[in-house]
Amino acid sequence: MQIKADLHVHTTYSKDSLITPKDLVYYANKKGLDAVAVTDHNQLEGAYKIAKETDFPVIPGMEVSSSEGHIVALNVNELIPRGLTAAETVMRIHRAGGVAIACHPFVLFKGCLKDKVCSTFDAIEIINARAFPFKRSVKKATETAERLKLPRVAGTDAHYGPQIGYGYTKIEASELSVEAIAKAIVEGHCQPFGKAVPVTLNLEMELQRVKRMIKKG
Ligand SMILES: [Zn+2]
Ligand SMILES: [Zn+2]
Repeated sequence: MQIKADLHVHTTYSKDSLITPKDLVYYANKKGLDAVAVTDHNQLEGAYKIAKETDFPVIPGMEVSSSEGHIVALNVNELIPRGLTAAETVMRIHRAGGVAIACHPFVLFKGCLKDKVCSTFDAIEIINARAFPFKRSVKKATETAERLKLPRVAGTDAHYGPQIGYGYTKIEASELSVEAIAKAIVEGHCQPFGKAVPVTLNLEMELQRVKRMIKKG
């Protein structure tokens, strides 16, 4: 079966995201997604909690800040510590039974891996819908995936509900389960799709963040 999934979404468990579990389900349904990966910064607990408490298919994961750039870990059974090298982080993800994705490897302003992406990764995030500059990052990630012969995925890196689903991966899996999705990605039965999140939506997010800050005092 074909599964349409946004593989990179942050919830309020990441301090910089506005997406509540309720928003997550609402927008994932609205965008016609079949599954969504929760990948909060350097934590895993929230993702498992959301996966358990919502009736929408959630792939639990986390985004690890390695010393050489960000790495998305899907379906890991334990927290991967931050600050390790990229190679060590990938090893730890595999030991925890997970899938290691080189996310936004060529963007400005975020921790990106650049030439630290290597063939031990399970996949490369070709489309990160909030990557800047967008076209260049897609091109460079595609070149790297070709060179290393790695599977290609996409996600939004959403931090605001309406951004969800701008980047998504079509996965050919045996069934709609976390295990089947993880296996299909590792085996390369996946394709990246999507487009850049419109600037207006990013501005809207900043506005909501300011409002939230004022509310909190
Ligand atoms: Zn990141
Ligand atoms: Zn992210």
